[in-house]
Amino acid sequence: MPSAADPVDKRILLIEDDAEIAALLKNELGEAGYEVDWAASGMKGLVSLRENPPDLVILDLGLPDIDGGEIASRLKQHGGLPIIVLTATDTVERKVELLLGGADDYLTKPFHPAELLARIQVQLRKKDSGEVRRIGELELNVESRRLRYHDGEINLSPREFALMELLSTKPGRVFSRDEIENHIWGKPLAGGSNVVDVHVANLRSKLRAAGAYGYLRTVRGVGYALRKPKE
Ligand code: CA
Repeated sequence: MPSAADPVDKRILLIEDDAEIAALLKNELGEAGYEVDWAASGMKGLVSLRENPPDLVILDLGLPDIDGGEIASRLKQHGGLPIIVLTATDTVERKVELLLGGADDYLTKPFHPAELLARIQVQLRKKDSGEVRRIGELELNVESRRLRYHDGEINLSPREFALMELLSTKPGRVFSRDEIENHIWGKPLAGGSNVVDVHVANLRSKLRAAGAYGYLRTVRGVGYALRKPKE
């Protein structure tokens, strides 16, 4: 099964006016398994962004029509889209400006394609794990390990977080005690242990204290599920 970092089905938008560099990168990225859309100008890049939404953008700063920094800030309006900037300048001021302006990473030309590939992987992995899972009004951010309900944060212990993390992979599905034990402790616990029930009870009371009623469901004799409460 492909993992989250697998390039399969990942689309990269390459905005670069230098045809030679673009051809080289398109080839390298294609060989690594990415789908690459090449746009030779800023305008074409913005059109491609709408027509074929990418998972990541590689953006050359020195474009003939629109300033790369301007494009970076427009791209950032598409929340969560990672941007790697290619730049010919390597002054510290410019780099700081780029990172503050919305670029997630940058490479100074000339660079080795292998380095670009590594940076792409890092950004895509970050994007996948930074995913926010929404179940009704609950928001679980897997990367920052935070649970929010409406505007309030619910503080979870590491085990309560692991429990939420598992149940939120498939809202509505009932997870057995064995599955929960395997996920949290890496193995089933000794028979008759009620430790899962204790963590579920604690999690439920924290959710209720925050006003989140009806999310954690007990299916007697089967297990537990997380679901959006019935309105
Ligand atoms: Ca250029």
